[in-house]
Amino acid sequence: MTRKIAILGATGSIGRSTLDLIEAAPDRFEVVALTAASNVDQLAEDAKRTGAKLAVIADEALLPQLRQGLTGTNIHAAAGSVALAEAAAGEADLVMAAIVGCAGLEPVMAAVHAGKTVALANKEALVTAGALMLDAAARSGATLLPVDSEHNAIFQCLAGQSGDGVARLILTASGGPFRSSTAEEMARVTPAQAVAHPNWAMGAKISVDSATMMNKGLELIEAHYLFGVPAERIDIVVHPQSIVHSLVEFADGSMLAQLGPSDMRVPIAHVLTWPERMATQVDRLDLLAAGRLDFEAPDEVRFPAMRLAREALGAGGAAPVVLNAANEVAVAAFLDGAIHFPDIAALVERALRAMHEPAPRSIDEVIVLDAKARAVAARMVAEQGA
Ligand code: NDP
Repeated sequence: MTRKIAILGATGSIGRSTLDLIEAAPDRFEVVALTAASNVDQLAEDAKRTGAKLAVIADEALLPQLRQGLTGTNIHAAAGSVALAEAAAGEADLVMAAIVGCAGLEPVMAAVHAGKTVALANKEALVTAGALMLDAAARSGATLLPVDSEHNAIFQCLAGQSGDGVARLILTASGGPFRSSTAEEMARVTPAQAVAHPNWAMGAKISVDSATMMNKGLELIEAHYLFGVPAERIDIVVHPQSIVHSLVEFADGSMLAQLGPSDMRVPIAHVLTWPERMATQVDRLDLLAAGRLDFEAPDEVRFPAMRLAREALGAGGAAPVVLNAANEVAVAAFLDGAIHFPDIAALVERALRAMHEPAPRSIDEVIVLDAKARAVAARMVAEQGA
């Protein structure tokens, strides 16, 4: 039987890797819906090539262009946030949630409410609404499968085990492009240097998050929600080779690790056919060529974002939403050349100190809080640039 797939964020790095796998195994998958923000030509091309039934562009002004691109086909074109949610809640069996940022939260929640199997790459959605999402999934029967390579590794190591038998989760981090840079060198880095990740080819936002190591902070929060493990039992270890994707230590002292090449198609393939395994054409990990595995302690002085994320998770309530929103604004400002690299974490810290909001009790409240935190962070960027 074929599995019906919707890809939210089909034109991005994760979206493209997902399409690559799906198109290589046409007997296993049927693409039912694809979405993008503004990359309308790519979306139309992908929809036609895969025979998708629905193509959704988030920017409503681009709907005429999408319709034009789909002329002569039976593919339905739609636009805007309601249509994005419909793509997520429609006929797909599995929804690949690969929109970047909190912008993906509403469509992810639509998929969760509809009881779908949700392959979750969009970590920001879980960071901002973790408890609400898990509650909704428990009520609807939705299954969340982690796509992030670290969480996918932990998911594989746990193999369904939870509770007292699990002692510790160990998230590995490559350390990013500035692992060995001094604070002085990091003060001068350019956006081009920050997005040039040594091991992974990814979208711009997550590449900068990897460079500041906020990515690992977001992943700490993500791991807490996905696996129900408290933050004090989740460690971060720098592993520059990105071969061990993460580990679990069990109560008896055993440790299990998942290894593989630095290619997101491996964890994506795992979730696409879970609990079965599909064959991929990915280059195999050559242990003899790799030769060694190194591990180092993370440096929270040069990379304060990890500490900020841990503090935000500990504070709970509104803090993870503020952390994420301020980070999204700061990363965009850095990529635009408006602030320097070290300002990203500094700005997130100032936003966390400045905002004392009650915990959001609904997704609508998360969205209002996210907007408020973005406004605060944007004001800080403007002051900084002035
Ligand atoms: P990209 O920037 O490459 O792609 C983002 C996708 O989301 C694009 O399809 C983009 O459309 C769409 N999008 C962006 N903004 C909006 C919006 N406001 N509304 C609707 N759609 C939007 O990101 P990545 O693929 O790198 O990352 C996606 C998610 O997966 C992130 O949360 C990231 O943290 C996570 N992740 C990524 C990994 C990677 O290797 N790339 C690894 C692990 C996790 P358009 O092209 O039109 O702009």
